[in-house]
Amino acid sequence: MIDKLRAFRDRARELDREDPLRRFRRRFRIPRGVIYLDGNSLGFLSRDSEAALQKALRSWRDLGIRGWLEADPPWFYMAETLGAMCAGLVGAASDEVVMSGTTTVNIHALGATFYRPAGRRTKIVADELDFPTDIYALKSLIRLRGLDPAEHLILAESRDGRTLDEEAIVKRFDETVAMALLPSVLYRSGQLLDLEFLTSRAHENGVVIGFDCSHSVGAVPHEFDRWDVDFALWCSYKYLNGGPGATAFLYVNRAHFERGPALAGWFGSVKERQFDMSLDFEPARGAGGWQISSPSILSSAPLIGSLAILKEAGIDAIRKKSLQMTRFLMEMADELLAPEPYGFSIGTPREETRRGGHVALCHPEGLRVAEALRARGIVPDFRPPDMIRIAPVALYNTHAELWTLVRRLREIIDTKDYGRFPSERKAIS
Ligand SMILES: *Cc1c(COP(=O)(O)O)cnc(C)c1O
Repeated sequence: MIDKLRAFRDRARELDREDPLRRFRRRFRIPRGVIYLDGNSLGFLSRDSEAALQKALRSWRDLGIRGWLEADPPWFYMAETLGAMCAGLVGAASDEVVMSGTTTVNIHALGATFYRPAGRRTKIVADELDFPTDIYALKSLIRLRGLDPAEHLILAESRDGRTLDEEAIVKRFDETVAMALLPSVLYRSGQLLDLEFLTSRAHENGVVIGFDCSHSVGAVPHEFDRWDVDFALWCSYKYLNGGPGATAFLYVNRAHFERGPALAGWFGSVKERQFDMSLDFEPARGAGGWQISSPSILSSAPLIGSLAILKEAGIDAIRKKSLQMTRFLMEMADELLAPEPYGFSIGTPREETRRGGHVALCHPEGLRVAEALRARGIVPDFRPPDMIRIAPVALYNTHAELWTLVRRLREIIDTKDYGRFPSERKAIS
């Protein structure tokens, strides 16, 4: 075992030496002695984001209300400017993406627009492994139409409780379905769904389809336009490193610009006429029309820095390194963490086309093992019943950190050190 550990350590060093993205780690403010592997829950602060936020604060201080037009970039166009910066990450035109609201609010805004139950087509397809807020939002959208979620929300089932089978999902697309909303990457197992396949089958069956890409944008390339996705939304505090509660993004395929937003608000106006203060709403022609309120400038400014870093690094290079790191972690887990007495198993699909940016390590004592890791300065997170999620982020994590993680996990089991932590979950795990 010692030999194997050593061999993996040498591999880790070699991979880090050859890493073309190595220089980006210095752009992040990772505290000394901390190994941060939770970038799929909250991405880390970069120096670039910190500077952009401080600049926004200075503009507020120095310009006051004039900041809406005179700040750099002007706040009035910030949502469109950042939308255009994000469009390249998802394979969309710049007017198809806008920064707006939050993930759940955007599900409401786009769901209100795209869920149009009519005739026999009244149902929504989602899945039973979805992030709960998505399901809460879909149920309320169904209730708002005077329908019963028990009858009109179809949850595609998982056979193993961890992954979904795309063939089984598309079997649910029939003439009773109006809309589907599915995740790109499942938040627990890290499975990446085949969005192109799901979209083409949805359309063959007359179903409008959207995706919640919170767990993939910034880690995985997307091609919304080429796949002909109808709509999408994603948060910006995970792999986009926008900061806690940062303003989210939404995508509307230009084929649907005519529909206009179902939930109107003055920030969705045609920009040149927003301040005419007319009582007749004229929505902007583009994703911008789906904005509702004034954008939160202080929760958006960090994205100016972080999106620039993502662009500089390039999403293809990011994906390549991410896959290399998750592969390396799974290889180490197979050799060093699966055998008794360690007993870890991998809950993430192995195929490159089927996994996102994180790896789920499953262990019956997962909750307490995660606490024992935190006590050692390693930050993972935990999702019940048994998943420790490890997200090696291409921009700031190293293979050497993954090697240290594995060594610490072995030590925690060898010494049964997890035994000193309570088995109740804290408010956030
Ligand atoms: C992170 C995440 C959310 C978070 O929703 P908020 O409205 O930003 O709190 C929603 N859905 C999915 C799939 C997520 O991964």
